[in-house]
Amino acid sequence: MDDILKKEIQFLKGVGPKRAEAFESLGIKTLMDLVNYYPRTYEDRSVIKTIKEIIPGEKATVQCTVANVESRRIRKGLSILKAVLFDETGYMNVVWFNQDYYYKKLKEGEKFWFYGKMERKILPEMINPIFSDIFEEFAIIVPVYRKNKELTQNIFRKSIKAAFNEKGMRFKEIFPDWVLNDYSLISFDRAVKNIHYPDNNEAFYESRKRLVFQEFLLLQISLLLLKNEYCNENIEGNLYTKFDYGNIYLNGLGFELTGAQKRVMKEIRADFKSGKSMHRLVQGDVGSGKTAVAAAAIVDTCENGYQAAFMAPTEILAKQHYENLKVDFENLGLSVVYLGGDLKAAKKRNVNSLIENGKADVIIGTHALIQKAVNFKNLGLVITDEQHRFGVNQRKSLTEKGNTPHSLVLTATPIPRTLALILYGDLDISIIDEMPPGRKSIETYSIGPDKRRRALDFAKKRMDSGAQVYYVCPRIEEEGESDLMSAETVYKELSNFYGGYKVELIHGRIKTQEKNRIMSEFYKGDIHLLVSTTVIEVGVNVPNATLMVIENAERFGLAQLHQLRGRVGRGMEQSYCVMINRGIGEVAKKRMEIMSSSTDGFFISEQDLEIRGPGEFFGTRQHGLPEFKIANIYSDMDLLKNAQEAAVRLLKEDPDLLSPANANIMVETKRLMLGYTAG
Ligand code: ADP
Ligand code: MG
Repeated sequence: MDDILKKEIQFLKGVGPKRAEAFESLGIKTLMDLVNYYPRTYEDRSVIKTIKEIIPGEKATVQCTVANVESRRIRKGLSILKAVLFDETGYMNVVWFNQDYYYKKLKEGEKFWFYGKMERKILPEMINPIFSDIFEEFAIIVPVYRKNKELTQNIFRKSIKAAFNEKGMRFKEIFPDWVLNDYSLISFDRAVKNIHYPDNNEAFYESRKRLVFQEFLLLQISLLLLKNEYCNENIEGNLYTKFDYGNIYLNGLGFELTGAQKRVMKEIRADFKSGKSMHRLVQGDVGSGKTAVAAAAIVDTCENGYQAAFMAPTEILAKQHYENLKVDFENLGLSVVYLGGDLKAAKKRNVNSLIENGKADVIIGTHALIQKAVNFKNLGLVITDEQHRFGVNQRKSLTEKGNTPHSLVLTATPIPRTLALILYGDLDISIIDEMPPGRKSIETYSIGPDKRRRALDFAKKRMDSGAQVYYVCPRIEEEGESDLMSAETVYKELSNFYGGYKVELIHGRIKTQEKNRIMSEFYKGDIHLLVSTTVIEVGVNVPNATLMVIENAERFGLAQLHQLRGRVGRGMEQSYCVMINRGIGEVAKKRMEIMSSSTDGFFISEQDLEIRGPGEFFGTRQHGLPEFKIANIYSDMDLLKNAQEAAVRLLKEDPDLLSPANANIMVETKRLMLGYTAG
C-alpha cells in the first residue's frame, strides 16, 4: 500500500484527534479508509435552470439577484429569514429557518447561486436552499455520506477533498490490462476520485461500475481459490463405505423423508463415497427438514470411524440441536457432547478431553468449537448451521481441526438459484425445495395502521388461549421525524396494554448473556409476548409461538419477511402472521399480496428480485448474504455475472495468481479473505 494511504486521519488537515475519533467509529482510521468510504447518495447541483423552468418538487440550481431580505424572530429558538429573489424570468421567495447569519451575506442587488427544492406555492418558493456566489460550488454533483452525529456532511466533504489534495495521492491499478479492456472498466484511480466528486453523470456511472465490478471480482476470486484448494487432485478426502446405522437412524425417525430430502441425502452420500472432501451447501426453507439430513450424515460419519462436529451460531440454537438429537444418537450407541461458551471451566476441560481422546463421537456447539483448546481425535465431518453467521474463515478454522474433513453448510436463506451459484461459488449446492407433508401454512394478513388495534386484540386472544407472540419492529429506538415504530416505544406501550402478561424486549444492543436469558425464558413459555427487532434467531424453534405481528412491514425485504415469518408455524397449531403495512402505492401493495399468497421462500425471493427495479434502494439487509460496500447483488446482477466470468478466466490462466500482473489482485484478495465474514 502506498504510504500516504496509511496516514492516520487525525493528521489530515482540518481533522485532529477529536474528529478522528468520530471517524473511527465509522471504521475510518487511515486516508485509505476515508477515500474508500463511498457516498450513500449524491446531491446533483448540476441542473441549472431559470426560476420559470423549475418544476415544483424539483431540485435545481438557479442564479438570482436579491431584491429584498428580512429577518424575524418568531419565538425563542425559532427565527425566519425571508428573501425575495429574481432572475430574468420572474420572482421567487426563499425562506431559511434559524440561519440568521445569512442576513449579512445576502446583500440586496447582488447575485448568488441557489440550490434547493422548488415548493408548490402561489409564488415559486425554496426552503433552506444552499447559496453562494462561487459558481464552482454548484454545477457539480455533491456526495452525501452515511455519517454519525459528531460529523457533518461538510466535514466529510472537506476531509475527502483534503485527502485527495495530499501529495502523491493516487491509487495503483490492481487489475491486469485485459480485464480493464474486456470489461470496459476505467482505472481504479479515476474511479475512486470520481465516486466522490463525479465530473458528470457518466463519470459517476463509470466509477460505480468499476468499483462494483471490483467488489464482485475479488469475492469471486476468493471463492474460487477456496474451491480450488478443496478440489486439489492430490488431496484425499475421507472415504466412507458403511451406511447401515445412518439408514437405521432414518428409518427410526417416525416419518418418511420427502423426495427432496432423499435426493439431498443421496448427493451427500455420493460425496462420502467419492474419496474427496465434500464442500456442500444445503439450502432449504425454514422447516424443510435440513436437520434430519444433517443428522443422518453425522451418523454415517461416526459409523465410518470419525467424529462429527455440528456448529450453530448461538448457544440457544446449539443447545436446541443437542437436546433434539441426543437421545436418538445415544440409542445408536454414540456419545454426544455439548460445547458452548456458557459451560463452566471445569466442565469445559472435561468435554475438551472427551473430544481429544475420541470418547465423544458427536460434538454439538457454538464457535467455542473453533477455539485453540479444542482438539479433535479424528474429525470427519463439520456441519455449520445457518451459515451466514459464520465467516468463511470460521468455517475454515473448524475444518482445519481435522484432516480434510467433509463440510456441510446449512442455510435457510432463500435466494434465487442463479444468485446462489455465484455467491456460494466455493460450494456445491443441494436444495430442499419441498416441505414435509401436512404442514399447516401460516395464515398471513396485511393490514393498514387503522386496523392495528384489531391486531393487538387478536394477539390478546391468542395469549388468552395459551399461545405466545412475536412482535417485530423495524428499529430499536425513536429517531427524529421518522414514522417507523421502534421496539422500545412499542415495548412500553404493550407492557401497559397487556397487563396480566409478561412482555419482554430483545434487540441487538442487549448483551449476549441477557439475550440468552430472554430467549430461553421465551422458549420455556415464561414470556408471553416478545417485542423485538430482527435479531430473533432464524432457527429458534418455539412451537407454542403461533402469532407474529410485524410493524412497518413495507420496510422489510420480502425474503426477510419470509425468514421472520418462519419463526412461527413450527407446531401443530395454526399460526398467523399479521403485517402492518404503512407503505403507500402499488409496489407496497403488491409485495404484501405476495407475502399473503405464497409460503414458498424461493418464489418469494425471485419476486423480491423482480419487483425491485434496478437502482431502487435496497434498504433492508437480508440475512445470509455477504455485505457489499457499493454493489447491490440484485440490481448489479449483470456485473456480477461478468465478474464471475473474469474470475474464472483469471484463475484459468494463473491458478495461484503468481504472475506479476496479478500481484496486486492477490494482495487485495488476501485482504478480503482475512476480513471476510458473510452476512
Ligand atoms: P429446518 O430445515 O428448518 O432446520 P428441521 O430440520 O428443524 O427444519 O425440521 C422441522 C420439523 O419438521 C422438525 O420437527 C422435523 O422433525 C420435521 N420433519 C423433518 N422432515 C420431515 C418429514 N420428511 N416429514 C415430516 N416431518 C419432518
Ligand atoms: Mg434448522
